[in-house]
Amino acid sequence: MLSDLDIAKQCQLQPIEIIADQVGIDQAFLEQYGKHKAKVSLDVMETVKDQREANLVLVTSINPTPAGEGKSTVTVGLAQAMKQLGHSVSCCLREPSLGPVMGLKGGATGGGYSQVVPMEDINLHFTGDIHAITAANNALSAFIDNHVFQGNELNIDVRRITWKRVVDLNDRALRQVIVGLGGVKQGVPREDGFNITVASEIMAILCLATDYSDLKKRLNRIIIGYNTSGAPVTVEDLNVGGALTLLLKEAFKPNLVQTLEGVPAFIHGGPFANIAHGCNSVVATKMASKLTDYVVTEAGFGADLGAEKFLNIKARQADLDPKAVVIVATIRALKMHGGVAKDQLEKANVEALLTGLENLKKHTETIDAFGLPFVIAINKFTADTDEEINALSEWCEDHDFKVALTDVWANGGAGGQALAELVVQTIEEKEANFRPLYHLEMTLEEKIEAVAKKVYGAKRVDYSTQAKNDIIALKEQGYGNLGICMAKTQYSLSDDPEKLGRPEDFTITIRECRPSIGAGFIVCLTGDVLTMPGLPKEPAALKMDIDDQHQAIGLF
Ligand code: ADP
Repeated sequence: MLSDLDIAKQCQLQPIEIIADQVGIDQAFLEQYGKHKAKVSLDVMETVKDQREANLVLVTSINPTPAGEGKSTVTVGLAQAMKQLGHSVSCCLREPSLGPVMGLKGGATGGGYSQVVPMEDINLHFTGDIHAITAANNALSAFIDNHVFQGNELNIDVRRITWKRVVDLNDRALRQVIVGLGGVKQGVPREDGFNITVASEIMAILCLATDYSDLKKRLNRIIIGYNTSGAPVTVEDLNVGGALTLLLKEAFKPNLVQTLEGVPAFIHGGPFANIAHGCNSVVATKMASKLTDYVVTEAGFGADLGAEKFLNIKARQADLDPKAVVIVATIRALKMHGGVAKDQLEKANVEALLTGLENLKKHTETIDAFGLPFVIAINKFTADTDEEINALSEWCEDHDFKVALTDVWANGGAGGQALAELVVQTIEEKEANFRPLYHLEMTLEEKIEAVAKKVYGAKRVDYSTQAKNDIIALKEQGYGNLGICMAKTQYSLSDDPEKLGRPEDFTITIRECRPSIGAGFIVCLTGDVLTMPGLPKEPAALKMDIDDQHQAIGLF
């Protein structure tokens, strides 16, 4: 069987200016990175400002297995199917992080015959955006340490510097470090630590900012820690907001590539959805929305994480108006939710499948609560049996849910036409009435409860002493009216990764609340979720190499 990389290599890519031309982007706005990648200047927005907005379709999923359930694959496949049906369409995806690429999960460029290309470039360094974010983040760390070293005019309390360094790799050895060792000339020793870049506030800011001036304002609002009187110290206080904006100047422009079937794909920004807000950039989504009639986008992990944050955070902040949601389900993940062990998922088991459907049911209720129509996409795997597929289709019929079997992994756009037709029909026939699940005026606790109860199905919310104190301080500092960004395991609706299916009668424990003022939300950490992952015993990197023609091999 051909690997994703083998399939991608067979593709005759079109020059990127042809793809740009398809959606009416003038060459003057295109900045090429080689033949098949380009950045698009934000100035293009001025030329399209009077055009109407596209129908925005969000692709989400049930709680996934560690391999992922195929959201990116279905996003690309659905866009390809819409193109085959004659629609003007583009897709918007996130940029892959080197953490999962080198680690366990793999890339983020789709799979099989529904991929964005050149996949090896996109999965590795792409146009350097994530490196630029890493540089901006670590420049801020250097400015903070230098400020302290040079006399600490702002009286920064070195024990309360909350800003961490980042690297875009899974590197558990860097979770906690001490910097400034080596004597008086080397700086002031203090405890520090590293997060993965895609969990950083700068990544979230780049993804949520609407233009350069908003980008700078948000960067200036970042809280880097506290002074000796306990008051927040910001980037603005350090007077480095301009430098950080400059470091992000090129990274802030959306990247244009293509799918295997020549659909324009805007790939920009890449926050994880379990520890960050999980959606691609607002500027890319808005640009795509002005250039094509339909935009298909994804948000990370299950609807309890990515979709919740897409709708409560991104859509609210950017004033987006999604028209429909696709909920991706796989028979193997449903069987896992029905109690089947991970190494037994290839075996047919209708009973477990039917039990596991409770997980899908919960996510349909969530999307319903947001006022949005949805279509269920069954992402077909070769091990799925007709009996299982029929059982799932019947269950959908019994519940009056629209469902389409999709085979976009094996057949590209041709495998997604039924889904594309259903999505278009849903948008035309069912009115979307999008509303976030909480009002910003509610208290932080009320907002956390709204998500925990309405989206996760929790019975109650507990707070650690630290979380209680964090919330008191955040309210005192005037940040009580921000949205919340929950950090939670992706495997379960609860904060315990072992609780599969649709857990009931459970408590969500908020461990800590951290201000992400530039991003415009409070990060609420639950369970053991880590902001710097580690590598598995056998990382994916062990299979990677370059061949005699200097081409990538072993990249999934
Ligand atoms: P997600 O976006 O939900 O994390 P991806 O689309 O990245 O999931 O897919 C995860 C992995 O599963 C990829 O390696 C992809 O090639 C593979 N995959 C997706 N759909 C299928 C399918 N129907 N059959 C086989 N492999 C698939």
